Formats: sequence, structure tokens, C-alpha cells
Amino acid sequence: METFVSLCKRRGFVFQSSEIYGGIGGFWDYGPLGVEMKNNIKRSWWRYMVQERDDVVGIETSIIMNPRVWEASGHVGTFADPMVDCKNCKHRFRTDDLRLNDNGELRCPDCGGELTESRMFNLMFQTYVGPVADDASVAYLRPETAQGMFVNFENVLTTMRRKLPFGIAQIGRSFRNEITPGNFIFRDREFEQMEMEYFVLPGADEEAHDMWIEARMRWWTDVLGVRKENLQIREHAKDELSHYSKRTVDIEYDFPFGGFSEIEGIANRTDFDLQAHTKVSGKKLEYYDQESDTHIVPYVIEPAMGIDRCFLTTMIDSYVEEEVRGEKRTVLRLSPQIAPVKVAILPLSRNEQLVPPARKVADMLRPHFMTQYDDAQAIGRRYRRQDEIGTPYCVTIDFDTLEDEAVTIRERDEMTQVRVPIANLAETLREKLPGCYTG
Ligand code: ATP
Repeated sequence: METFVSLCKRRGFVFQSSEIYGGIGGFWDYGPLGVEMKNNIKRSWWRYMVQERDDVVGIETSIIMNPRVWEASGHVGTFADPMVDCKNCKHRFRTDDLRLNDNGELRCPDCGGELTESRMFNLMFQTYVGPVADDASVAYLRPETAQGMFVNFENVLTTMRRKLPFGIAQIGRSFRNEITPGNFIFRDREFEQMEMEYFVLPGADEEAHDMWIEARMRWWTDVLGVRKENLQIREHAKDELSHYSKRTVDIEYDFPFGGFSEIEGIANRTDFDLQAHTKVSGKKLEYYDQESDTHIVPYVIEPAMGIDRCFLTTMIDSYVEEEVRGEKRTVLRLSPQIAPVKVAILPLSRNEQLVPPARKVADMLRPHFMTQYDDAQAIGRRYRRQDEIGTPYCVTIDFDTLEDEAVTIRERDEMTQVRVPIANLAETLREKLPGCYTG
């Protein structure tokens, strides 16, 4: 894990937030390669969940909402974790993370000190809207994006003239004042979520739930390329279900820290949220079902995931150290769709005859793919640098190029090489990199 975290920093994927001031727990910055990869993950999810379907639309709602939203949703009352403090070293823990010691007591895992009584700690970040900080101006940073979809149910239903079943999807930031953030970007206090609320007729919910569990697993394995043996589906036990849920299934990944842990939850939220908002707002959130000539409150199936955890999953899953001809190389075997750089353009050397045609090739490819031009150091070192950031293809310009107007394409995983005329290069790469073009 340490090697991997250092790779993320060294190669510009992830930095500590406000690092020059010593950082701040649970907050992270994405560097030049990290932001490319994160955007690719979002694009892939949006395409799969919204653009390739005719039953799902997208929205983008505000982070701060009317605070009554969070009363209705149950977050003000129940979005809390049990917490204890060590009376000696003052460290703070989630009570449910602690284990009894050999004497059957709960003690501080850091110094062995005595702990305070366990108390509930609400995870929502609170702020004030407007110039006066009083009870009437209290507001919250959203702890999930889902409520933005529920409160817009009527708006989307009528403006888009939708029939059940249909879904509303959103990508956006969420905030949770986690008691113990950690494991790099696994548990953050500021993170991004991708959630979709799929509204169905009551009675059609269980089948829709199974359909979404399968569809979501397919995205992780077939689209992102995460290895099946590292994923599992875990059914929530009855006593573990959230207050709104009839059934919840987690997709879990086998992380090097702590083993299988949640990367996505797929919940049957029943009609809990629409009913709750109807009660608190006084506005009916219903659907007119022509067939039965009745107004009904739909049930909801929700696939909910965090982008940061997905980022971590795909990085870890694709990370390989191997030996090639007696030399060690690190490769990120990332799915080309999410790799930050698609094509690297590498002249064999900085020879003055090679640089101009190499620059020309880079200029030609740049409008089509995310590219990187690199002419510093020996070609072998440059291949290794690209392998380490998961670039699927390198294009090499050598002295033969000056004669035959052709270049070599080198593939990341098998390291096979093919010679291609420059005139066909963009087209050949398009065939090799479906769904990876910028233009
Ligand atoms: P956990 O049990 O790990 O705290 P959760 O069950 O509270 O997670 P959900 O409320 O189901 O999480 O949120 C949906 C998804 O959002 C999770 O599967 C995860 O990918 C992501 N997520 C939730 N909390 C965090 C966090 N603090 N940091 C990063 N991602 C998060």
C-alpha cells in the first residue's frame, strides 16, 4: 500500500490537501493525471447509466439544500456513528471499530488508556447561510446526492414526460465528518458520489433490484475491467439495514488493507423518501398510473457509489510489478477508457532530425486522444514511465521514419510492436482505443 500511495504522489495522481501546511485529515487533491482518470471514470459511468439507456436522465443539484430536506430524510435524527474518546491521549475512535482486549475491556488501541462513554456523533457538516449565524440560518453540506433526486422527482417527471420505470442520476460532491477517515482515499470527509434513483411501480421493485445488481457488477468487471475474483456481493443482514431499506446489497472489493470492503451499495429504498418528503413539505410526490387509474408513490432502487473508492479500486486492481528481461517494471493495467493518457509520443532520441516529425505526430494526435510527448532520457526509461501511469500505447519515431513515413506502436501489456504508416496512425489508434477519443 505504501509503494502504491507513493506512486500516486510521485506521478501526480493524488496529493494531500493543503500539503504545505501539513495537510488536513480526510481531504485530498487530485493531480494532473488523477483528474484525467477521475473524469474518465465519471464519463464512463454517465455513459453507461444515462446516455446508453432510454429510461434514465441526469440532473445536477445544489450541495446546500433547504435544511428541512435533511429532517425529512432522517439525516438530522439518525445520520450518526457511535464515538468514544481516549481520556489519556485524546484520540477519537468509532466505537464499532474497537475490539475487546484480553481482559474483556474496551481500551484505547493507541495507548491502552481509559475511554469515555460511547455517544452518537452526527456526520453532517453544519454551516450558516447568510450573514447571521443563528438557529434559523443553520444549513448542511449534503452527505449524499440522493436527496437532490427525490426533491426533484415531480420536476423531472413532468418536464421530461416520463413513465415508470425511470431513473434520475447525478454525479457530485458529498461531505461526511467521518470520525476516523483513512486508508488513503478510501474514507474521506469530502468525496464524490455517483448515484441513481430508479423509480418503479410497487411490486416491480424486487425484480428491478436484481436487474441493477447485475448491471452494476457488469460495469465494474466488463467496462472498468476490475478482476472478478477480487469482487464479491454481500447481502446486508436484517439488523444492519438502513432505516429506509427493504434490502441492500454491497459490491465489495478485496483491499490490501482490511480485506473485502464496500465500494458500492445497491438499496431498495422502498417509498420511504418520497413519502417522507410528502409529509414534511406538504407536496404530493406521486405518479398517475393510467392502467390502474390510481395515484401511487413509486418504490426506488438506488445504486450508489463513490468515485474516490472506485479510483482506489481500479488503481490497486491494475497495479502489477513484473520482471522483463531481468529488469523490474511497474505497470498499471488500466482499462484504456479510464487510463489518464491514451497515447505517448516518443522520438527515439532528442536528435534534431527526429524531434520535428515527432512533434508533428503529437500535434496530429492531440485533437483525437489525450496524449503526452516525452523526449527526456533513454527510450527504455520512457516506456517504463508510461507503463507506470497505465498508458495503453506508445508511438515511437525513429530514423526509419525519415525514410518510410511510418512509426512503431508499442502496446503496454504484451509489449508487442507494430509498424504503421503515419497516414493511417490516427485511424489505427481509433480502432485500438474504442471509446477513448476526445474528438
Ligand atoms: P461505509 O459503510 O463505508 O461508511 P456507507 O454505507 O455509509 O459506507 P453509502 O452511504 O452507502 O456508504 O454511500 C455510497 C457510496 O459512497 C459508498 O459505497 C462509497 O463508495 C461512497 N462513500 C461513502 N462514504 C464515503 C467516504 N467517507 N469517503 C469516500 N467514499 C465514501
